[in-house]
Amino acid sequence: MTCVACAQPSTKVFCDPCAKLEYAELIRLYCRRTVSTSPVAMAQALMAHPRFPVAGQAHHPLVAGLLVAAYRNAGGAVGEGAIDTAIQRADTITGGFCAGFGADAAAIACGIAVSAIAGTTVKAEHAVARSLAHTLTGQGMLLIANNHGNRCCKRSVFTVLELAAHFFTATMGVTLAPPRGRIECAFSAQNKLCNGGDCKFYPAVAPAKAEPRLAVLG
Ligand SMILES: [Zn+2]
Repeated sequence: MTCVACAQPSTKVFCDPCAKLEYAELIRLYCRRTVSTSPVAMAQALMAHPRFPVAGQAHHPLVAGLLVAAYRNAGGAVGEGAIDTAIQRADTITGGFCAGFGADAAAIACGIAVSAIAGTTVKAEHAVARSLAHTLTGQGMLLIANNHGNRCCKRSVFTVLELAAHFFTATMGVTLAPPRGRIECAFSAQNKLCNGGDCKFYPAVAPAKAEPRLAVLG
């Protein structure tokens, strides 16, 4: 097999050097070389990294970086540095933002991706791109607002990436791959605040033990 992060031959899902990476470098490395157009599948793969946290700030650059990479992989024109810009911007949104600031960072990270792709500024010539970014952020917020129970970063990530795959295809001139069938979270057993059967992404067959694993999408 090859390492998920660096794509070099490896006997493990993540080779030994890549298994030691912090989340930001892991996301940057993966986004540089991935050819996937499925943001949800990409997120499932990276969240299975042994050092990727169950919750928190890492999920913000994950969403932003993966969406820019998926757009590029689907044939979209991406300026040099757009992926790094998206990752850096989204990584400035702290963990717990959803609880204290009235807005979920996973949704904002979608808007960051659109802004980084378009090179959006505050000027009039970028009004359309800003509107597009804000629309995606707003739709993501509304979907997340329908959730209840404990906050869950995996749930927010799956929610906005499924949305974004359709939104990019409908509005941005590329075709991203939507999830095939129902998304099943592979991380519920690791999450002390998992909402279990109340979550739409909870596996149909509950996992027996708390070990990281890769989810195979339909
Ligand atoms: Zn590697």
